[in-house]
Amino acid sequence: MLASSPECRHIIQSIIEHLPSGVTLFDQNLEMIACNGLFRRLLDFPDKLFEGSLPSMKSLALFNARRGEYGPGDPEELAGQVVQRAMAMKPHQFERVRPDGIILEISGQPLPSGGFITLYTDITERREAEENLRDKEGLLRLIFDNSSVAIFTIDSSGRIGAANQRMVEMFMIPLESLIGIEYVDLVDPVEQEIARKNMADHLACDRPNVNLERHYWRSNGSAFWGQLTARRMPAYRNGRAGLVCVVADITDHKIADQVLAERSAELEALNQELTKAVDALAASNAELLAARQELEHLAQHDNLTGIWNRRRVEEAAQQEMLRKARYGHPVSMLFIDLDHFKRVNDTHGHAVGDDVLKAFCDIASKCMRSTDMLGRWGGEEFVILMPNSGLMIASLLAERIRKATLTYAFPVAGHITVSIGVAECRDDEAWEAWLCRSDAALYAAKEAGRNRVISDAVGSKETDEAELLDLDFLRLVWRSTYESGHSLLDKQHQNLFEHANALLTSVLSERPKDEVLPQIEVLVSDLLDHFRDEEAVFRLIGYSDADEHAQIHQGLIDRAGELVANFTSGELALGDLFNFLAYDVVAKHMLSEDRKFFGQIQVIRDTAG
Ligand code: GH3
Ligand code: MG
Ligand code: MG
Repeated sequence: MLASSPECRHIIQSIIEHLPSGVTLFDQNLEMIACNGLFRRLLDFPDKLFEGSLPSMKSLALFNARRGEYGPGDPEELAGQVVQRAMAMKPHQFERVRPDGIILEISGQPLPSGGFITLYTDITERREAEENLRDKEGLLRLIFDNSSVAIFTIDSSGRIGAANQRMVEMFMIPLESLIGIEYVDLVDPVEQEIARKNMADHLACDRPNVNLERHYWRSNGSAFWGQLTARRMPAYRNGRAGLVCVVADITDHKIADQVLAERSAELEALNQELTKAVDALAASNAELLAARQELEHLAQHDNLTGIWNRRRVEEAAQQEMLRKARYGHPVSMLFIDLDHFKRVNDTHGHAVGDDVLKAFCDIASKCMRSTDMLGRWGGEEFVILMPNSGLMIASLLAERIRKATLTYAFPVAGHITVSIGVAECRDDEAWEAWLCRSDAALYAAKEAGRNRVISDAVGSKETDEAELLDLDFLRLVWRSTYESGHSLLDKQHQNLFEHANALLTSVLSERPKDEVLPQIEVLVSDLLDHFRDEEAVFRLIGYSDADEHAQIHQGLIDRAGELVANFTSGELALGDLFNFLAYDVVAKHMLSEDRKFFGQIQVIRDTAG
């Protein structure tokens, strides 16, 4: 009937061409009435099969069987089975996987007028999607069931909709009891109100994920801290919103945090205590240090005047004596006593006496060189140690102090004088002996009428040295007794005296080295000229000890060169150099050695005259 009208066939063909499945129509004799293009494409039939007349079910089945469409087996048999099934004319639906992997859903339906229609649908993608979904669902289920956190849903009325095994364990409530209870019943009563409001807000409108800490209760009454994360599902049940929630038990973390906070608070407190203790220690240490420094100062200084005390002076004297022993540096001492000081006290009172003592220290300090050391020996007695100074320089300083004191007008007390004993430490001399000599010189000064300087000059060197000095003018003084009668030599001697005096001024006023060096050079150069001229003179007059004297000259020249070099390099103090040039060479040599041939010069002059 279907095949009867070509018009009908045309309509049928138009309809089936537009269907989304492959379609075949067979009559009751299993002759094909129609099929669409999609059918041919889906089953990959070659066009020639359909050229001329449409193929029968049998020829199609055989074609399929031969190309392996029905799997392995005898093609005639397989095709026969297909035709057999079709002959039953029963509705059927099955899937076939084609050799290229495409899955076809094949669904046949008998037609009321005889024959049947079969639909071929490519369900490969649908099957893949279904499989994917199944995989995902399986995965989710796995996660849900084995999660270490509680996972549950809340419906729009605030009741638990689903829950996992961990939730059962966490809240100690069987699953069947858990489903359907209100979520807020799980929350600590104190937090229930806020939890309910939060939940309602979240259900009502889309908000960012909720993430907060909650205190929950278990069925046995115990509590725990949970970290809650909740997300809104817009259509959970019956088109109404719900929440999917995750709760992790963070009680251990909370406890650890709390312990940590307590520990750090304890540590902080401990740290503060330690800081305080350290501060206190530092403060008391500073106090101790200050006290020690104060004590040390007290132990070394005089209370009233602030200058060194006797103990410190003795220490310094020992050091200077060592330097003298080791390096040969001369050292001298002034022993000073204020004259009639008792009268000051008696007349003006003790306080004025004290002021005088202090003022005297100022006066003495101003006269001293920076290396000289002033100390109070006791009462109105003072000591000055003078490193690198022989008796000559020491006597000059003593004289400066005597004059400065004499001319000073002390407030209230008026004019006061001092007596000073001077002594240079001798080789291998004991401290007591040296001190005793300076004290004796002071006593002598007192005896001689006070307000004077007396040097302890016992040896010839010291006597000559003392004799050389004009204390009034603080310089070496040329005397007529030094004259030899030879005009050139006398002129040269006087010239050397002047050089020595210039150097002395430099020593006393502590001129810088670069100022002093030219003075020294001139002195040494004049000295060489003089020695040369002098040697010529005493050879001329046939002086018997000429060679010996020339040898002494050479020794002095060598020593001078050595000392000048030491002074230039900073190893020698100017005082030492002065001692040698002014005293050993200029004064002593001229006054002792030279005098030996002065007599002969005079004899020759007298004879000639
Ligand atoms: P001379 O010329 O012989 O040294 O006579 P002087 O009066 O200075 O000597 P004396 O030793 O007789 O007297 C020293 C006085 O110095 C007696 C003592 O009271 C006084 N004196 C000692 N130490 C201090 C002090 O620290 N302050 C005051 N104001 N006087 C002192
Ligand atoms: Mg005295
Ligand atoms: Mg006195």
